[in-house]
Amino acid sequence: MEHQRDDWSQADAGLPDLTAGEVVDLMQTVLSDELDHPELWAAIPDYVAALPTIVAEVQARLDCAGGAERPSLLILLAMCGAALGQPKLMLETLSPLAARHSQSPLVQGALFHLRGVLDPGNPKYRLAGKICTKPFEQVDVLENSTHLCCASWLRTSVGDMNAGDWRAVWNSAEAQAIRESIHDGSYRFCNKSACPYIQSDALVPAEALREQSAFWRDLLDAAATTVNRGPRVVNLAYDRTCNLSCPSCRTERFAADEQLREKFDALQRDTILPLLEHARLVFVTGSGDPFASKNFRRLMKELTPEAYPDLRFQIMTNGMLFTPQQWAEFPSLHRRVAMLKISVDAAAGPTHELLRRGARWPVVTRNMAFAGELLAAGEIDNFELVFTVQQENYREMGDAVDLAKTIGARQIWFGRITNWGTFGDEEYRRKAVFLPDHPEHRDFLIAAADPRLRDPMVIEGDLEEFFAPAARAA
Ligand code: SF4
Repeated sequence: MEHQRDDWSQADAGLPDLTAGEVVDLMQTVLSDELDHPELWAAIPDYVAALPTIVAEVQARLDCAGGAERPSLLILLAMCGAALGQPKLMLETLSPLAARHSQSPLVQGALFHLRGVLDPGNPKYRLAGKICTKPFEQVDVLENSTHLCCASWLRTSVGDMNAGDWRAVWNSAEAQAIRESIHDGSYRFCNKSACPYIQSDALVPAEALREQSAFWRDLLDAAATTVNRGPRVVNLAYDRTCNLSCPSCRTERFAADEQLREKFDALQRDTILPLLEHARLVFVTGSGDPFASKNFRRLMKELTPEAYPDLRFQIMTNGMLFTPQQWAEFPSLHRRVAMLKISVDAAAGPTHELLRRGARWPVVTRNMAFAGELLAAGEIDNFELVFTVQQENYREMGDAVDLAKTIGARQIWFGRITNWGTFGDEEYRRKAVFLPDHPEHRDFLIAAADPRLRDPMVIEGDLEEFFAPAARAA
């Protein structure tokens, strides 16, 4: 995949001979791929003497810019303003873009950069020299696209697995460009505000990774962008079939029709089953519910320990169908589930049934308790509750920790609600209580200071910036 970094490097060398208009043209060309360009943000302060004329040029273009051009111009203005000594004001100026462009690596990367300027001692803002292992180990298979990480954090597709050649997708040009961005520390394809690994500074220093194995040492020494072995982790997220229609995910219930089921049958037979021979962990599912999908049910039964002795499962469910009877139907899962996740998003019935449209709280609580029994009996290795924070449920975050303990989960994960395209901008802004300009943001901060959220069982996901200050104050 081509991107425009080199154009800036050329401008960089010859900047004194360029007019402000030519410099802004070049910057806009660089940003036209809508990816993050931290090398550009880092270079801007070097030209501080030229910045007032560049700012005037950007401002003039903004006055007559159409909607598509405005975000990149506003970002350029903000980066010049930050270099001229106003990073806090510039962050406030850019913040309204956060909700409207919640999936944009460019906008979220620019906000991440400005937050880093304001918090220079915080190591999470320094990505160079740290390695995210996911793009070298994982694929997420969606209905018509494939990603090297969760598609809501890394939306660039590396190809379509329906074409039948998983090796071509795994090492496609797009896959290689993404891996290059990990090696060079730009992480330009990643949504830096949404990624919990970046937000919690969980990326591994390259030196430490080198020590882990010859595989990593060789890969890092060569800055390799192709990976010769298959993905170790495969997230199956192509079938959206679900027994519920949660408002955060979809507007109405969805079940694959016969034609779509036949397409998934072919995908599973021709691509997924061969691919999983190389994998160590399979996620079912990030797209719907594994027990509601005929395709996933069949696949889980086919993945027997005899045929796939090295494979383990991560199961993600809304919990409504996770009954003892269903569990008995899937012997292939027994003692092979590394992680069971039940996505609950509430600690009380009314909120749960509002956010899990079609669910019944008494059934889910009974099934969660059954999952706790499986964990206690050693039938599964781990059990996590998942809580996606939004305006309707943030007041129940502390109670959800108590709930997790009561039903016997080992951990509870909190994360921000993502706009998967289900919401309009205004609706997402109303839900995104973690945004600083949300009318209930102060109440959210009070809820985030609940001491129960400092429990070691809590995984703070991409809410670390709100939970961690409370932890430090404890
Ligand atoms: S979004 Fe985060 S987890 Fe995904 S590849 Fe980028 S750094 Fe890794």
